[in-house]
Amino acid sequence: MKSWSMKNMRLLLRLLHYFVPFKKHITLGFLFLLSGLFLSLIQPVISMAIIDEALLKKNVKLLNVLGVAFLVVAILSYLFGMARQYLFAVIQQKAMLLMRRDLTGHILKLPLRFHNCQNPGYLLSRVDADIGNLAGVMTDRYVQTFVDLLTLIGAALILILLNWKLALLSLAVLPFFTCSVIYFGEKMRTLSWENQERHALVAARLQDLFHSIFIIKVFAREAGELRLLMKSLIKFVRSNLQITRLSLLSNLVMGCIATLAPLSVIWYGGYLVVHNQLSIGKLFAFNMYLAYLFNPLRNIYGIVQSIQASLASLDRIFELFDLPGEEPSPSPLRRIVNREELSGLIEFEDVTFAYRPDQEVLKGISFRVDPHTTVALVGPSGAGKTTIFNLILRLYNAYQGRILIDGIDTRDIDLKALRTLIRMVPQEPFLFNRSLKDNVRFGSPRASDEEIIRSCTQAHVDQLIKHLPDGYESQIGRQGALLSGGEKQRISIARALVSNPKILLLDEATSFLDSNTEKLVQEAIRDSMKGRTCLVIAHRLSTVLNADKIIVLNQGKIVDQGTHAELYSRCSLYAELCDQQFHSRPVAPSMSLEMAYGEQGTINSRNQSHR
Ligand code: ADP
Repeated sequence: MKSWSMKNMRLLLRLLHYFVPFKKHITLGFLFLLSGLFLSLIQPVISMAIIDEALLKKNVKLLNVLGVAFLVVAILSYLFGMARQYLFAVIQQKAMLLMRRDLTGHILKLPLRFHNCQNPGYLLSRVDADIGNLAGVMTDRYVQTFVDLLTLIGAALILILLNWKLALLSLAVLPFFTCSVIYFGEKMRTLSWENQERHALVAARLQDLFHSIFIIKVFAREAGELRLLMKSLIKFVRSNLQITRLSLLSNLVMGCIATLAPLSVIWYGGYLVVHNQLSIGKLFAFNMYLAYLFNPLRNIYGIVQSIQASLASLDRIFELFDLPGEEPSPSPLRRIVNREELSGLIEFEDVTFAYRPDQEVLKGISFRVDPHTTVALVGPSGAGKTTIFNLILRLYNAYQGRILIDGIDTRDIDLKALRTLIRMVPQEPFLFNRSLKDNVRFGSPRASDEEIIRSCTQAHVDQLIKHLPDGYESQIGRQGALLSGGEKQRISIARALVSNPKILLLDEATSFLDSNTEKLVQEAIRDSMKGRTCLVIAHRLSTVLNADKIIVLNQGKIVDQGTHAELYSRCSLYAELCDQQFHSRPVAPSMSLEMAYGEQGTINSRNQSHR
């Protein structure tokens, strides 16, 4: 309990950081609050004067004056309250905006290791629902608590001044009230935590569902997936109802406690009035002040409940904030390299790497890619080819050995500079549901229209654009759903080229493309390689035939390196891969590119021509 309270305090203090930019708003809000509070506190005094001084003494003039005074005070009190509420709504919205910005920014910086195991829907629920949940704990609620506490203290003092015996009687229920607040508050926190977790699971499942719509339809799994979703939804509904039940029960208990006090006042106060020890006006005012005591108490209870619910969310939010971002550069150097000074030399020096501690995926890899040359990586699936790309881009940092660009350890290079210098074309083109132009511009947000057109021409996207209704502005659908596989690949290549990278990492697509599309993609790749250092995971014969050097990988080790002709005659694994992986009949070492391609320039056409 104690450690929980300390934790809660720490969480709330961390949250305060988001209110620092709004110091002026908060001060003004508190001024409104104090003024409103003062005005609401004097209203019963005016009522008492109306009854005792104006009504009982039949003073009509005083009645009019006090009546107008009451009206002015009530209107002003309402206006001040409104101004305060609006001010704090502004602070609340802006603080939540800052928090959403920071949390999303932080999530984007978390390493791939983290994202590989996370469901995006789960993260979405933290940014959206959990931060949304903080509304209760943010500003307005604190202020409300402050108002309530002051009202409560003020009312208690006035009650004691009016009649201390009656006051003690009505205050006797306070200890019961406090115990109930603590008991129900703790229960509410636990339930809210579970509730948020279930909500996150629903969001995660929904995200999964809509993301996989294609495969669900293809496998006709709509009903099954809906059943799975329903399981999560039902758990969420149950948890909501649990919270509702707890809320109702606690309200009942609080209500009973809060009714006891007025009852005792009416009974004992009536006795005092009958015995002329208390005026009717005083009893009336006393009763009014009791509301000033118990309404704030009820509010405070509500606030404690909602703070407990928000604390559960706050805990989940800061849990994410506390995860370390992308592994920072181990070197304090963090060089921002000048692109123009670099030639694009890549060197691997005895690199060993494991995703999991017990499973080495790369074992003592050393190789060199000279500037402006093309090196093809060839090997069976799982050999470690993609991992080599991941390490060059520093998507994973924890490897032994060194990876150098122009002799500089990549871990000494500023991460953003490194990833601007090197562009990767992944095997599966990832496209945004934006216009074609925006998809290409993603590679370099400051690219001019001319640069976009240049990269599109290099990647042979320009021919596609001619056929699209809105040219470069055409929408391409979710994940490029309105385009063919080859078209998506060419846009993906254009995006990599738009920043004119020194180094290009290309993971060739294995998916089957028709020969004409294949030819266009092939031409796009060939044109895009010109004047750059290229490392290609080769799935096409043309690529290995074109490459200046081929590296053969197997089970995380380099088996051999050389040209196609050299390797084909001396490396049995390479010869085997050539025959199997490239779906070709054995390619004679002396075979030229044109001979291998035939007219179409692709391995498919070559096969066809041999059949
Ligand atoms: P290739 O590209 O040659 O097919 P990869 O580099 O993708 O091979 O994978 C090499 C090995 O690393 C495989 O055994 C694969 O299962 C494993 N692997 C790849 N990515 C991860 C990851 N994120 N976490 C754990 N293991 C991985």
